[in-house]
Amino acid sequence: LVLLKKVNKHFGELHVLKDINLEVARGEVVVVIGPSGSGKSTLCRAINRLETIDNGEIRIDGKELPAEGKALAKLRADVGMVFQSFNLFAHKSILENVTLGPVKVKGMKGNAAKELAMSLLKRVGVDNQAQKLPAQLSGGQQQRVAIARALAMQPKVMLFDEPTSALDPEMINEVLDAMVALAKEGMTMIVVTHEMGFARKAADRVIFMADGQIVEQAKPEEFFTNPRSDRAKDFLGKIL
Ligand code: ATP
Ligand code: MG
Repeated sequence: LVLLKKVNKHFGELHVLKDINLEVARGEVVVVIGPSGSGKSTLCRAINRLETIDNGEIRIDGKELPAEGKALAKLRADVGMVFQSFNLFAHKSILENVTLGPVKVKGMKGNAAKELAMSLLKRVGVDNQAQKLPAQLSGGQQQRVAIARALAMQPKVMLFDEPTSALDPEMINEVLDAMVALAKEGMTMIVVTHEMGFARKAADRVIFMADGQIVEQAKPEEFFTNPRSDRAKDFLGKIL
């Protein structure tokens, strides 16, 4: 479903993605971990074309992402993204935050969009907050709204870039639980996170990145108990 072939990216002199090859199958959940600066966020952003690449190929469901314009907006709708900061529209209600995309990009009718939004808000447990503004919600609630908003575009794949790292500890689990449920429902997911509990519960595969390269990949059990590379051993020693 997601295919990256020999993807390279520089920021000036800095080579941040080095010949990245990655294939994610439909329904697969891939957790990406690695030290700060290893290129995890850049990888996510490149998949969504929030970042250009120097060369290589990125395909979603067989289609290469167009560089710009309407075609890009359409294809981008296939790729839902949830960031560390929740990025909700501050002056719009929770409900409007979720209906905006389907109405503007997908041309959905207002009532249908509302129904869809309410069902998604319910799924992540914040339907009772629909009329409030983002600032009136806790961080964990806002992040669950961000997930509902991304799902409202009916994406083929969901990208998460450290979705819980800005949250207070007591709110982390409510967001992770929503993500685990999504994984169990068969959503294709690429998740940058250092939450090993999530990886163990939901990931089919863990990818370890360092210095812009995929150094190692394995099933979570295997990776955590028996990392092969020194870089991975060193990294796990620091975070576990
Ligand atoms: P973290 O765990 O801290 O989030 P990361 O693995 O997500 O790190 P990236 O954000 O992808 O790392 O950054 C990879 C490298 O690219 C870093 O050295 C970073 O400083 C650099 N970088 C990222 N964005 C830019 C930019 N817009 N301009 C220049 N350099 C950048
Ligand atoms: Mg990052």
